[in-house]
Amino acid sequence: MQNKEEILFSAAENEFRESLRVFLDGVDAKKIEREIYERDFYPRELYGKLGDAGFLAPVLPVEYGGMGKLVYEAILAEELGAACVPLAWIHSTSSYAYATIARYGNEEQKSIYLPAMKSGAKIGAIAITEPGAGSDVMHIKTSAERKGDESLISGEKRNITNGSKADVLLVWAITNPVVDPARGMSVFIVESDTKGFEVKRDFKLLGGFPGTVNSYLRFDDVRIPGKNMLGGENEGARVMFDELSIERVLYAAMLVGEARPILELAV
Ligand SMILES: Cc1cc2nc3c(=O)[nH]c(=O)nc-3n(C[C@H](O)[C@H](O)[C@H](O)COP(=O)(O)OP(=O)(O)OC[C@H]3O[C@@H](n4cnc5c(N)ncnc54)[C@H](O)[C@@H]3O)c2cc1C
Repeated sequence: MQNKEEILFSAAENEFRESLRVFLDGVDAKKIEREIYERDFYPRELYGKLGDAGFLAPVLPVEYGGMGKLVYEAILAEELGAACVPLAWIHSTSSYAYATIARYGNEEQKSIYLPAMKSGAKIGAIAITEPGAGSDVMHIKTSAERKGDESLISGEKRNITNGSKADVLLVWAITNPVVDPARGMSVFIVESDTKGFEVKRDFKLLGGFPGTVNSYLRFDDVRIPGKNMLGGENEGARVMFDELSIERVLYAAMLVGEARPILELAV
């Protein structure tokens, strides 16, 4: 009888899953997960190994070394969730960032950021939520004021998964305050070593979430070159809803993976 994976996935997709399982077994990801639960450290090195072995960013187009399909990224999210939850969380926000850059970036942006994120050398984060804007994302207050060929970003973001660990952040900001935010926000690629970017505090979530932090970030006149705007001026809402669609698929896949060891333990 065919198992669930043989019915739902193609032979190539199952092959990818199998090689990933062999790799995660080989690096003893489960043991590392237990160590993280005991000592609460961030598994950056293990994430780099995933990149070195070529498993990261399969969603990217073939010309950027990917397999060009979101389903491979979902398989990766699921297997990481099953093998090592904190590793899956690094992958989560990083994958939302690189998948969004792949979809909306121009050739220059893609050639700068995608190879570095695919290799695991750089990690991404998504910065939408603010102290006064959670579910209601249209209430963000962070602003980006155009000054010549640059934009000055000011504001605060909270609840940003691994925000203090990220090298590349996608930051949503209001660029036209006199229109409806749906038509007046843009998204910027911000590198974390840019002057004016500050990690105010890292929080631990309820339940601990070892190996993961939830960051409160501040942007104080952070000067961003115009070429770092992603997807066009005032197109931020469209990019956000696409990003959230990618996020929902990959987040769900990660949680299916996280549930697997619990199910195996229970039956
Ligand atoms: C583990 C974790 C990781 C996160 N990572 C990120 C990240 O990486 N990047 C990022 O930008 N954000 C992140 N977030 C933030 C997340 O997107 C917000 O928590 C979410 O948008 C909800 O916002 P809030 O917490 O302010 O809750 P609120 O918006 O204040 O909602 C509180 C409650 O009110 C309900 N509610 C809200 N509005 C309505 C309404 N109109 N009608 C009825 N009920 C309503 C909600 O369902 C909820 O139950 C993360 C959050 C968590 C918990």
